[in-house]
Amino acid sequence: MAIVISGKTKCVICAAVIEEGDEIVGFPAFLPKEHELWQYSDAAFHKLCFQAWPDRERFQALYDAFNDIQSARPKHLKTLEEFEAWTQEAYEGFLKKLRANDINEAHK
Ligand SMILES: [Zn+2]
Repeated sequence: MAIVISGKTKCVICAAVIEEGDEIVGFPAFLPKEHELWQYSDAAFHKLCFQAWPDRERFQALYDAFNDIQSARPKHLKTLEEFEAWTQEAYEGFLKKLRANDINEAHK
């Protein structure tokens, strides 16, 4: 998840500083830089801003697809090398789906 520092981090939608006690939603950096919604990954949102965001469903579908891939990780990976190799391969699969633009379709 994005690092959020109360009183310093800005909401990616309204650009207001996130204050202590604000309800927030955050995402890890999961989209590649060339993706049009890239700036919203590795970012924090006020919960209300996120809920009102027109691209929310699409973004959420992308994140769900990313999570599906991560949670499909086989249990037999033992070494860090195996883990990294799997992660790399899985992420490339995710990028291919992004390029083919078929993630939203899969979640309809
Ligand atoms: Zn906001």
